Amino acid sequence: VLGEKIEEEKSQAIEEYTSKYPALYYNAFQEGSSEEISKFDDINLERIFKDKNRVIILSGDFWGIQNFIFDGLSTNRATKVIRSRSALVQIVNFVISEIVNKEFEGDTVLIGAGKFTILANHREKWKEELEKIQKKLDSYFFENFFGRSGFVLSGTETEIEVLKQGKFEDDSISKIFGRLASENEKGKYRKFDFEKRENFLINPFEKGGEPCEFCGLRVSKKDNSCEICSSHIDLGKELTTNRYMRVFKNGGIPVLKFGGDSYGVEFYKNFKRLEETPYENLENEIGIFNILESTKENVNAEYLQKSPNLRYWSLASAVPKDENGKILDFDEIRGTSSGLMALKADVDTMGDTFREFLEDEKIPFKKFLRLSREMDFFFSDYVSNLIKTEYPKIYVVFTGGDDVFVLGEWKEVIEFVKNLREKFHIYSNRTTTLSMGLTMFKSGSLKYISEETDDAEKRAKAVEDENGNSRDGIDIFGYSMKFPLFLEIEERWKNIWEKVPTEKRTSSFIYRLIKFAEMSQKSKNFIEKVDDDFSFENFQWKSKLTHNFRRNVEGSDEVLKEFSDFIENYGEKAIPSIMMQIYRDREKPE
Ligand SMILES: [Zn+2]
Repeated sequence: VLGEKIEEEKSQAIEEYTSKYPALYYNAFQEGSSEEISKFDDINLERIFKDKNRVIILSGDFWGIQNFIFDGLSTNRATKVIRSRSALVQIVNFVISEIVNKEFEGDTVLIGAGKFTILANHREKWKEELEKIQKKLDSYFFENFFGRSGFVLSGTETEIEVLKQGKFEDDSISKIFGRLASENEKGKYRKFDFEKRENFLINPFEKGGEPCEFCGLRVSKKDNSCEICSSHIDLGKELTTNRYMRVFKNGGIPVLKFGGDSYGVEFYKNFKRLEETPYENLENEIGIFNILESTKENVNAEYLQKSPNLRYWSLASAVPKDENGKILDFDEIRGTSSGLMALKADVDTMGDTFREFLEDEKIPFKKFLRLSREMDFFFSDYVSNLIKTEYPKIYVVFTGGDDVFVLGEWKEVIEFVKNLREKFHIYSNRTTTLSMGLTMFKSGSLKYISEETDDAEKRAKAVEDENGNSRDGIDIFGYSMKFPLFLEIEERWKNIWEKVPTEKRTSSFIYRLIKFAEMSQKSKNFIEKVDDDFSFENFQWKSKLTHNFRRNVEGSDEVLKEFSDFIENYGEKAIPSIMMQIYRDREKPE
């Protein structure tokens, strides 16, 4: 009987452990795990759906995340705050979800990537109550972030049967999502009701003071940073060195001011330290998390033994550090390498998949949850652990939801990109793909780098195959292609380049090759009527290649033919692989 009780407690514990956080499935690559996830969702939803009739669905959305993270930041010293600001988006999202939960006695059904969905019993005046919370959030964001970012709450009501069945009477999940989306848009558009605010042109420097060196938005208080950025720096340090995080009201490193309440976080190196830290008022605690470990054995054993409140949340930073644990800045990450690379990748056709779900009105809510949670697991948990263990020179800006954004030493980012694509294919049973945008940089404004990389990702997504499918693309150095083609070119380039004797591998010859690849592309574009610009010179690339090759490389005619075919076949798409050769050669010790 005791054994049974332990079993029961264990399953309750796992249930609790997995109920609120998407990133809570272990061993996702192991057989049988998808059934486990499904079981968790069943149990969880059954509990939430129980004894409910008319319900309200509330959603939260952190908008202006790019501004929140990058405003005023250049690469210089940015590593101190980027990761903590990105984690802060998650923590603030969690705190607000708990505030809403408490107010409405609801349950979080989805949370991650700066968004949440909460289900609660219907009550009169829920809109007014929600509006009250919204006003307090607006004040906080307006006063501290000047309308450059914020948090919008929206809600709608329906019958629980709609969620269970997908469609009921005259409502459906499709309509619910439609209503929530339009409420959300309205909320973002409305932003802070600027016209209603008397002092909406706040000048933080009115009373003098120097701008903070980290954000440039607020007045610097000590060590050239404002109070908020200073708390971001503290948070960044704690996130890289601790294992446990407690979120609570009235104390710790501040994360959100809400009316008269201040929410904060505190960190602990090990469980003993956590237990030893007394609390005057445990009611103020809203969550304890293991932010470091995600292996099944560790977490479950620990969790079951020590605390029923402890949950896992993959929040600890995957950021490059030196042997003393100091976070490296971007110059140090780059080291002697030619440059840094920014990568943004996201799942292709996620929108289509959700749309298909919505069109089929028989699909219950559970399936939406399942898709979102599994996707989020891959990015927030699996990817961050992959980087932590295998890519020490990659700095994670964000990974979660259905996308990832990292900055790192360029060669390591290229390796990561190949690995990420392969792992995602396995994870999605080769049904879904990613598109990736990459840009190289040495230093500069991170907002600019981020936007450039966004554009690269968009170009990668727009590459179509012969059937008009746009997915599985990559855009690197401004050249877009399908990922398999990129891999093919890489492989072939390495093969050919090896055939050139070491002493003949001159940079002048490589630069020539880039020129020929451009010419070859232009002549092709003219023939295929992509481009009307005619230049006779472009058609001469082959004879120029022959001349150059014979004079400088002095290789065999077979090797020359290989170069010629390579450039003829791939045109400008060959350029990224050739350019990377230049960078690699440049990095070789003299
Ligand atoms: Zn600042």
